[in-house]
Amino acid sequence: MASRDPVADLRRIAFLLERANEATYRVKAFRSAAAAVAKVPHAELAERAGAGTLAKLAGVGEVTARCVTESLAGEEPVYLRRLLSTKGTDLPAEAAALRAALRGDLHVHSDWSDGGSPIEEMALAAAELGHEYFVLTDHSPRLTVARGLTADRLRRQLDHVAKLNEQLPDGFRILTGIEVDILDDGSLDQEDELLARLDVVVGSVHSKLRDDSARMTRRMLAAIANPHLDVLGHMTGRKVAAAGAGDAAHRTARTRPPSTFDLEKVLAACVEQDKAVEINSRPDRLDPPKRMLTVAVEAGCRFSIDTDAHAPGQLDWLGNGCERAALCGVSADRVVNTWPADRLLAWTGSHG
Ligand SMILES: [Zn+2]
Ligand SMILES: [Zn+2]
Repeated sequence: MASRDPVADLRRIAFLLERANEATYRVKAFRSAAAAVAKVPHAELAERAGAGTLAKLAGVGEVTARCVTESLAGEEPVYLRRLLSTKGTDLPAEAAALRAALRGDLHVHSDWSDGGSPIEEMALAAAELGHEYFVLTDHSPRLTVARGLTADRLRRQLDHVAKLNEQLPDGFRILTGIEVDILDDGSLDQEDELLARLDVVVGSVHSKLRDDSARMTRRMLAAIANPHLDVLGHMTGRKVAAAGAGDAAHRTARTRPPSTFDLEKVLAACVEQDKAVEINSRPDRLDPPKRMLTVAVEAGCRFSIDTDAHAPGQLDWLGNGCERAALCGVSADRVVNTWPADRLLAWTGSHG
């Protein structure tokens, strides 16, 4: 039998595990093995597979060595076959149509902040999914637990992205961005000059989520009025118990109720300033809740359907958001990431 590509098989396994919401560190073994195996010539791999010494390579363990051996023998690795047989179900028709209309993702993290993979790995996975673009939105400085980027590191990231964009497959580009913290007073946690340079700015509340309603409303309105902000990220900050993320007790312990604010005022401000409300597709967020999403549709808001991916396989979570959007009556023409990149940039540019 002709040999399969062991690197592609290992990457595929990692992708499917991430998609299933497995912790990034558990997936790491497959990504490290893929990187290690990619550096070894085919002849040496075949020799090692025959001699049973693949696991002696740095970055390759017993499980990943078995996958490589099967792959080289032309067999679909058992590990991969098992994952493929448990793949998710198909989306309902309306959600599937919305998913098909999406051209990109406006909320994506890399290992520059708290993501698990390099930017290029995220970009490659997005291109393979058929995206035309994503916006790289690593965290801002005050979110130290997530290794938020200082102004200097963000400047370096912008140079790096410019170089990467020259090497990426045709038809895909990385747009520059940030998930900037909305601070206590509603100001944004990055230098104005930098925010102005970025293609897309997603603003999110990550601290003092229990602020009283009046205070939280003031804070959100100030952020929405900031000309740099384009998208309001995971608006309620809630955390729900997501399937696949550890045991049930652990999942429940990590839930968080939505924050409270004047929804009508916040939505009206988004409409008036022509900013988008994010529909966050993370299984542990699914934010905003459906009842609020319905109100936002009635208010006439624009939306962006995003994954908030922290690993390549999570880029495939857009279906979650599309399913909820379709249920709540969001039409494709209200969703800014159904637009080609140029139209998207004209829209963010219109915010000043
Ligand atoms: Zn966030
Ligand atoms: Zn995020």
